[in-house]
Amino acid sequence: MSVTAAPALLDRDGLNALVSALVAQGRTVIGPTVRDGAIVLAELDSADALPFGWGVELDAGRYRLVRREDGAAFAHSAGPQSWKNFLHPARERLWSAERTPEGDVSFTAEEPAVPSYAFLGVRPCDLRAIAIQDRVLTGGRHTDSGYAGRRERALLIAVECTEPGATCFCVSTGGGPAADPGYDLALTEVDGRFLVRVGSDEGAALLEQVPHRDARPDVEETARATVDAARERMGRALPPVDLRDLMGASLAAERWDDVAARCLTCGNCTMVCPTCFCTTTEEVTDLTGDHTERWQHWDSCFDLDFSYLHGGPVRSSPRSRYRQWLTHKLGTWHDQFDTSGCVGCGRCIAWCPVGIDITEEVAALDAERAARETETD
Ligand code: SF4
Ligand code: SF4
Repeated sequence: MSVTAAPALLDRDGLNALVSALVAQGRTVIGPTVRDGAIVLAELDSADALPFGWGVELDAGRYRLVRREDGAAFAHSAGPQSWKNFLHPARERLWSAERTPEGDVSFTAEEPAVPSYAFLGVRPCDLRAIAIQDRVLTGGRHTDSGYAGRRERALLIAVECTEPGATCFCVSTGGGPAADPGYDLALTEVDGRFLVRVGSDEGAALLEQVPHRDARPDVEETARATVDAARERMGRALPPVDLRDLMGASLAAERWDDVAARCLTCGNCTMVCPTCFCTTTEEVTDLTGDHTERWQHWDSCFDLDFSYLHGGPVRSSPRSRYRQWLTHKLGTWHDQFDTSGCVGCGRCIAWCPVGIDITEEVAALDAERAARETETD
């Protein structure tokens, strides 16, 4: 990579031209848009479909669209979906089999769909989540070929956060509202215009195709100051302790009973989480019994069958399932993937139907450990 392009400035027409250029390249452009009372990720044929003038009000178990007077396109935080919905889809057919009239069985492997995606509006937390899923799904001995193909062809246009959601806590996970490397282009919305930084040669070539001007230093300074202010306004945080140690020291904590009394084990938190990757497979047949298919679909450690071994599930209680999720995400994920499994996007807080807040649970576990240590001193 030899990226030398200076930061540029796009206006709304320039943003539209950017989307048009991507569509003209044959890419499927995915970005945020308002649908069904939420800001969802969907295919865009124009930048006009972005949620200009919409923001969100969030809290534990609560999400509501609100109008914004400034007309901003990206002043909303993560919605119910993440980019895993496209890179690691909820359902995929792996193979199908047919019984021939002669009684033979022929198998056909499914060729994974590999659209050429352009993701417009990737939040810095989600950029980190994609990097984590890259490690999980392509970094080991067994690569998920469908994911790898889609990921390799995907162009990432990040958007830095200028307005953190009330459930965001990315700073305390080691990230922040500024985009880390890994993007092709990164946008920062400043007073109705978009500062553009280039992160790859492909991003630079794309920028060349759209009308833009060089960004003046004062615009860059305003953009930095706005992102820094967003960092300061983040309302939630994980406790500043070694979370891997805390999880390891908390296996017998009483707090698991407390959270289990509230948790519905619905699995929403795992479905919306941009790093959760677990899947299972199932076979389905048609009524004749001559045609069968194997499908892979998302699974959740909150599902009773998830830990089914011979004779029954290993984790039969809600306590054990919530503990599995949290201790894996914040603890043993480090052992497996050399990273935490949490990027602080806050989705699991907003979309938990009973408002269980991961930051509150971890703080409670930390307080319980401190109390135990005081007792034993
Ligand atoms: S923590 Fe909330 S979202 Fe997750 S399984 Fe329990 S009730 Fe569902
Ligand atoms: S655990 Fe919650 S806050 Fe962390 S990445 Fe997953 S959904 Fe986001």
